[in-house]
Amino acid sequence: MPIWNPECETLPREQMGQLQVQRLQELLPRLAACVPLYRQKFAQANVSADRIKSLDDLRQLPFTDKRDLRDVYPFGMFTVPLEQVVRIHASSGTTGKPTVGGYTRADVALWAECMARTVASAGVTSRDVIHNAYGYGLFTGGLGFHLGAELVGATVVPISGGLTRRQVMLMEDFGATVLTCTPSYALVIGEEAADMGVDFKRRMKVRVGIFGAEPWSERMRLEIEAKLGLEAFDIYGLTEVIGPGVAVECEQHNGMHINEDHFLAEIIDPDSGEPLPAGEEGELVFTTLTKEAMPVIRYRTRDRTRLHPEPCACGRTTVRMDKVLGRTDDMLIVRGANIFPQLIEKTLLSIEDIEPHYQIVVDRAKDQLDTLEVWVEAAPHLFQPIDTRRLDALQNRVSVELAQTLGITASVKLMGPKSIQRSEGKAKRVIDKREL
Ligand code: ADP
Ligand code: ZN
Repeated sequence: MPIWNPECETLPREQMGQLQVQRLQELLPRLAACVPLYRQKFAQANVSADRIKSLDDLRQLPFTDKRDLRDVYPFGMFTVPLEQVVRIHASSGTTGKPTVGGYTRADVALWAECMARTVASAGVTSRDVIHNAYGYGLFTGGLGFHLGAELVGATVVPISGGLTRRQVMLMEDFGATVLTCTPSYALVIGEEAADMGVDFKRRMKVRVGIFGAEPWSERMRLEIEAKLGLEAFDIYGLTEVIGPGVAVECEQHNGMHINEDHFLAEIIDPDSGEPLPAGEEGELVFTTLTKEAMPVIRYRTRDRTRLHPEPCACGRTTVRMDKVLGRTDDMLIVRGANIFPQLIEKTLLSIEDIEPHYQIVVDRAKDQLDTLEVWVEAAPHLFQPIDTRRLDALQNRVSVELAQTLGITASVKLMGPKSIQRSEGKAKRVIDKREL
């Protein structure tokens, strides 16, 4: 598969390291001059550009986290006056104020370049029709994909999320060959097509899906590929760094290549903050090397993964990150046990007759132990007509398997078709009702 920017994406690793150090040295004085938050942080850590001679020196630099961004909300991280900022995006921020990202004209061009690399990595060319069902608006997904798809010259259908029946109709009418949306919404589109009597695999020309913005397991990938008849690519990004376009899988599907000439990645121990060697699991941290309006230094993503610098058969030399294994802050502590929602998903989807629609509910009645409930849909054929014997057996099996992987018991509720709420964007899998 052709590489969009071979010069950058196949740069020998030693040269990549030199480029990163050089860009970092240029960035630090600019940040210190323009952003009071960084001026203070650098002074406290007693660092300046001349102390950074190699990537090993990165560890001297201070971290940035979500709290820092919140403290200087909305525009305190910007290095340029607002008149040079041509675009604002923001994360959904379900609680409190959102996280803001600002882009100069050069940043928008950089984003388009990274997204062009991304879609090209999934084999997209000017001959493709991209049905872009990521949300358009403050969320970075829709407009991010839009930029990259246009740059490679594909035909973009900027449908955004929602009105799913119409999505199915237009995908067929316009001959979409690529679907871009969250993995959970991809399933919703497939389901809606089935309800409309449209045989998705036969009637649609879609051969590629680029799915991300939320965690999804390998099992979920198989489920989507089987239901929609396409090759699914994982894509990773976050508003604080640029949006989508930070990393994407190549045709090898052996991790996501990070655009590290622009986004320098590290893995740290989330407790001690110490950098971890390649291959070890920890928290992913990013330094943006080339952004103008809002560069970040060692931004703590709270996403857990591993990095792999070994060469890849696709020819790219850029480091690969594993699928996100979860977030350092999405771990639920239930009756003292550490529970990762991703592990629940993996377990559920390994069981036959279990559908990829589930919700996790944690609660605590006054002076009582925590309760962990897992609601999950069972295959429709078990309800037509209702087969209580098999449903009971299935419920029992799910309970046993969950208890084995989690180490605590969960009360499992098998649900009928469509009873778990569907999402047009990022799915909300966990409801924690405890007042902690
Ligand atoms: P918000 O979700 O608040 O709108 P963002 O869109 O910036 O904000 O969300 C970024 C976060 O989404 C990442 O830090 C990560 O936790 C999650 N995310 C993005 N892409 C993926 C992916 N491919 N796999 C798992 N998690 C992802
Ligand atoms: Zn590769």
